[in-house]
Amino acid sequence: MASWTQLEKACKNCTKCPLHETRTNVVFGTGRTDAEIMLIGEGPGESEDLQGEPFVGKAGQLLDDMLKLIGLDRKLNVYIANIVKCRPPHNRDPLFSEQDACMDWLRNQYALVRPKVVICLGRIAASALIHPDFKITKEHGKWFVKDGVKFTAIYHPSALLRDESKRPETFVDLKNILQVVKTTCTNTYLPI
Ligand code: SF4
Repeated sequence: MASWTQLEKACKNCTKCPLHETRTNVVFGTGRTDAEIMLIGEGPGESEDLQGEPFVGKAGQLLDDMLKLIGLDRKLNVYIANIVKCRPPHNRDPLFSEQDACMDWLRNQYALVRPKVVICLGRIAASALIHPDFKITKEHGKWFVKDGVKFTAIYHPSALLRDESKRPETFVDLKNILQVVKTTCTNTYLPI
């Protein structure tokens, strides 16, 4: 298996799908590389493409606020990545062919991080990682166990910015995630 540095370097030179032609930056991922929790979104937007970091801009700020509610922080105790590492033009959904081409990078990140809990952010990530027919309106907040790892999905922060009526349900999901993290992850909430 490649080291973390080798993996990041190779990913940043990737031309495996046409999204490399229009990207400004490859958005590899950010956070603790030994986190017990991984957060996975669908792909970079405009701000992420410009800055080379996942979940920046308004959606990123909201994600940071959501994480803070349950004692999580992008630098301290989670790792954040996306299904595709380069921005789809005009923020369209990544094509299945692009997701397939990019999935090996995420597989390698997952193998290096070895999370105990995976939180999918939105339908695209949940469909790719939990099951292909995932319905985010009906299945957000539910738990799925794969090879001993607990997977769940919540609404994507961009969806919560567009439709504030989804926020109360997400608050319930976050409280539920907090309970699961407390019982599953022994190194996440370290005493200060
Ligand atoms: S989206 Fe993924 S597979 Fe496509 S060029 Fe970027 S890093 Fe490579």
